[in-house]
Amino acid sequence: YSALRAAFPAQMDQVAVEAVDPDGQSLYYTWADLDHGSARMANLLDSLQLPEGSRVAVQVEKSVEAMMLYLATLRSGHVFLPLNTAYQSAEIEYFIGNAEPAVVVCAPESFGWVSKIAFNSGVGHVYTLGTDRSGTLLDRAAHHGDEQQPAMRKTDDLAAILYTSGTTGRSKGAMLTHGNLATNAAMLKVYWGWRTPEQGGDVLIHALPIFHVHGLFVAIHGALLNGSPMIWFSKFEPAAVIDRFKDATIFMGVPTLYVRMLADARLDRDKAANMRLFISGSAPMLIETFRAWKTRTGQAILERYGMSETTMLTSNPYTADPRYGNEDERRGGTVGFPLPGVGVRVHSDDGLPLPVGEIGNIEVQGPNVFAGYWRMPEKTAEEFTKDGWFKTGDVGMQDARGYFSIVGRSKDLIISGGYNVYPAEVEGFINELAGVDESAVVGVSHPDFGEVGVAVIVPRKGAQVDGQKIIDALKAKLANFKVPKRCYVVDALPRNTMGKVQKKLLRDQYQKEFV
Ligand code: ATP
Ligand code: MG
Repeated sequence: YSALRAAFPAQMDQVAVEAVDPDGQSLYYTWADLDHGSARMANLLDSLQLPEGSRVAVQVEKSVEAMMLYLATLRSGHVFLPLNTAYQSAEIEYFIGNAEPAVVVCAPESFGWVSKIAFNSGVGHVYTLGTDRSGTLLDRAAHHGDEQQPAMRKTDDLAAILYTSGTTGRSKGAMLTHGNLATNAAMLKVYWGWRTPEQGGDVLIHALPIFHVHGLFVAIHGALLNGSPMIWFSKFEPAAVIDRFKDATIFMGVPTLYVRMLADARLDRDKAANMRLFISGSAPMLIETFRAWKTRTGQAILERYGMSETTMLTSNPYTADPRYGNEDERRGGTVGFPLPGVGVRVHSDDGLPLPVGEIGNIEVQGPNVFAGYWRMPEKTAEEFTKDGWFKTGDVGMQDARGYFSIVGRSKDLIISGGYNVYPAEVEGFINELAGVDESAVVGVSHPDFGEVGVAVIVPRKGAQVDGQKIIDALKAKLANFKVPKRCYVVDALPRNTMGKVQKKLLRDQYQKEFV
């Protein structure tokens, strides 16, 4: 917290966060409000005299007070553990049982069932926090002073446990240290050219959930570490966000947010004229989305790549990157260069380095790489190579200019009759066919080939898509082993809250089609 606090502007009575209500009303928080509000909550946490390393588990709807609670947890030196607001009792039972937090903060509406789970698991303190500044957390914090001395923490001490999105299986708790968070935030501040007030300043539109690395760390740390105000949306509304581009300079989103904004006919160059940077990550962005955004707004979205275990790893350049021949092009379909200080390499399944252009396992190293999975020492050990690189589970390659691209996850890779099929490659071809909006290719069991790909296709609005015609069209373009054996036409792909396609669900659904 001290590092963030040091970046707050000297004028503490300036607006730090404008929270836009769903009804269009705004509530303004100054830098002093953030400092004092988080101090009161930190004093409350301090008064509980919890042992060092205690977890503060939080499952509340997005609010500025919830962000203050994150800051308060850092101030009191405890470990912040945010939980997806969609989780229900079975999930909360697992996470609380697994993480054994000392404090749980939940929404007032869920107090009944959450507190029951919490008390049964031996949690000592349960508070509530509503979106309208209601709840026992603020009531109790109000009895405490608005000044607090942040606890001293070392680089290796835990700051947060972030459960992964659960896209490929059960979520794992990634243990992130103060050093992980601080180095990544400092790196991004420089790489993305955050502007100091003297340089005209920046204003961030914050419209992401804050239980995930993107909204919590990349976005919040970015703004606070630069003393930049935020326009804060508790829920993403495409039209409302587009209307505020004129008051902002940076937007961060997952690809689906861009798709939804593109569906608004009013989005054009004028609307986006004040914006200096659009950033995308958390899931692959379709090249069509990248191109459409450029055509409509004149701006190239900067795509970056990261994960809960490592925070940010690679980024397209914001300005010329001297490490890569002064390349400054933001290339759609790629995730750019390793961030300064981060090692990224592509290795074969046998652990050998692969040359430029060859697809393999992405492995990473750096001060941003986490301290391991919470209470899963074997899993942690499995995910590191002998020489200490973290296996991301993503498959990709680096091109001759140094740009990395992600072609999928190793768990989604299809091995059909002994040949590797990279779903992203096949999806790219399908998406270019007439009438196709988007697609997902997944591997299912097959008696002859072991596994074959099947395609799940979402047609464009009003378009008719014939699965057999898709297959015929692909046969003319791709090697036969890559061509999906069947095509299913559906209304929508299953996605989780971060907009990631849940291929596991699709695999389960179509698993028995050939066997
Ligand atoms: P789980 O690990 O529980 O299966 P998850 O990997 O989706 O879930 P996160 O840590 O939230 O959980 O997401 C990280 C993953 O998101 C990366 O490993 C990568 O597969 C994907 N990802 C992030 N950014 C990008 C990007 N720009 N392009 C493609 N994939 C991305
Ligand atoms: Mg993962």
